[in-house]
Amino acid sequence: MAESTMQKIVSLAKRRGFIFQSSEIYGGLKACYDYGPLGVELKRNIKEAWWNDMVHKRSDIVGLDCSIIMHPDVWKASGHLAGFSDPLVDCRNCKERFRADKAPRATPGEKVTYREGGRRDGKKLEGVVPEAGYVCPVCGSGDLSPERQFNLMFRTSLGSVDPMQEILNAVDDMAKLDPAARKEKLAGIINASAVYLRPETAQGMFVNFLNILNSSRVKPPFGVAQTGKSYRNEITTQNLTFRTCEFEQMEMEFFVEPGTDDEWYDYWSKERFNWYISLGMKKDRLRLRPHEQKELAHYAKACVDVEYFYPFENPEGEGEWGELEGIANRTDYDLKKHSEFSGKDLSYFETETKRRYTPYVIEPAAGADRATLAFLCDAFDEEVVDKEKNDVRTVLRFHPRIAPVKVAVFPLVKRDGMPEKARDIMKELLAEGINSFYDETAAIGRRYRRQDEAGTPWCVTVDTDTLENGTVTVRERDSMEQSRVPAAGIADYFRNRLKNS
Ligand code: ATP
Repeated sequence: MAESTMQKIVSLAKRRGFIFQSSEIYGGLKACYDYGPLGVELKRNIKEAWWNDMVHKRSDIVGLDCSIIMHPDVWKASGHLAGFSDPLVDCRNCKERFRADKAPRATPGEKVTYREGGRRDGKKLEGVVPEAGYVCPVCGSGDLSPERQFNLMFRTSLGSVDPMQEILNAVDDMAKLDPAARKEKLAGIINASAVYLRPETAQGMFVNFLNILNSSRVKPPFGVAQTGKSYRNEITTQNLTFRTCEFEQMEMEFFVEPGTDDEWYDYWSKERFNWYISLGMKKDRLRLRPHEQKELAHYAKACVDVEYFYPFENPEGEGEWGELEGIANRTDYDLKKHSEFSGKDLSYFETETKRRYTPYVIEPAAGADRATLAFLCDAFDEEVVDKEKNDVRTVLRFHPRIAPVKVAVFPLVKRDGMPEKARDIMKELLAEGINSFYDETAAIGRRYRRQDEAGTPWCVTVDTDTLENGTVTVRERDSMEQSRVPAAGIADYFRNRLKNS
């Protein structure tokens, strides 16, 4: 069977050092991934582009970097302890565990066909879509368990007392207690030191609202931005890094005067959609999907997802819309809840008008890993260079701003002083902060193709003319066109091209 686009991307990601399975030599760990040398550059460039565009290029947004473990009361106030759970379902056919709310929808009673065990060579079976109105996302079967709720937060303990050891020590005494007292004793031991890995970065901005107001001379409308790791004990299906237990978020909370929130919500929805396009993402693979009323989180007045059409495989074929980022109007819910739980007044006093109000919050919440995956999928192309010769090149058409390597430098041959000159050029580029790569192995055509696969926008070749007239060949990744450029001032040349790209 021919390889699907996603299979090709997954194998390219591994072969070229974008994404590896975590702990691979030990058999891997489900839903955990590592970024290789090219992947880490791509992800860093995306996060840097976000920070530059959201913080450095604006005067109304400041940055923040909070600890991952926060006071447990933060999660009581935010509602995560009581309600941050997903409805889980088990497929009785292929044994996949999945989220009911993310499963492919289907009409109850409708016929479905699938393979026994979910395998391609399994016996063909027939079934029906259950009352719940969805089927297994992996094998398409309707033979499913009932839904049950599962809290997504990772719990750990803080301090020198290990609650598991405490429970072991207390086991004999507990046996003498009645069931209710035993439960209470157990909960007491666990809760005494229980803390959580943050499931979102957003709460850090709310609990630091006063600190930022008092230290930074900001006033609404203003935003606080943060990038960092978040943790959710997710039940994941395939699709590489789309849904993982440890992931990085890029979130910004924008505090505004109540009554102006609808306007800002529209503004940020458009801004964030256009941000992906400004970094080269194809417009026809992006959409804004407003949430229906029943989908809205209890605190949200409105929410819209920026979705990307990922080339995922599913029972219907190839390609599926998936969330890249959510823009929500969180109202004054979070600040009011934290005021209530902490006893601190988190309102804002406007000196000019002598008015006090609790700001509303517009939140664009993006995922760095999902964005990295989307940019990787979007950049992937197989271009037929010469049909007769069956010459097809794999090329990652990254926008130069996010391309892991900006320039590759080659000597045409390994003699006549060409390697020395090429190394000098590379050093000059690196000294200017332009990430470059030197390669002198294999024929020049092969070297160009290797860089196409890595998504490098430009290659520079030092050849005989360089030694004679001081010019080098610059080869374009997308058009494969070549031109001659003076070697002197090459760093300025690429800095300008990067700036104007
Ligand atoms: P989903 O509906 O896909 O679970 P969500 O609506 O719960 O996502 P948010 O809480 O709005 O996600 O988080 C903001 C962003 O963080 C998401 O748009 C996504 O890019 C990213 N994100 C959330 N959960 C994960 C995860 N488990 N793995 C990777 N990225 C994630």
